[in-house]
Amino acid sequence: MASVTKAARAAKYRTFTLAQIQEADAMECGLCLACGALRDCCEPDARRYRCEECNENQVYGANEIMMMGLCTD
Ligand SMILES: [Zn+2]
Repeated sequence: MASVTKAARAAKYRTFTLAQIQEADAMECGLCLACGALRDCCEPDARRYRCEECNENQVYGANEIMMMGLCTD
């Protein structure tokens, strides 16, 4: 998993697997592009919600993450 962390730091945004995105979608969660945390109560098209883990406004809904091409599968 060390290489994943490195890649996420090098890229502008981290990426997620399709399974992670589908899980977030099923739980109505968003994913933080800064730290990767799940945030609940996010619409699939949520954008720039505040992350409770890292306080960055980088939480996006599952649909938005797919649209942004951040799915690695
Ligand atoms: Zn975060």
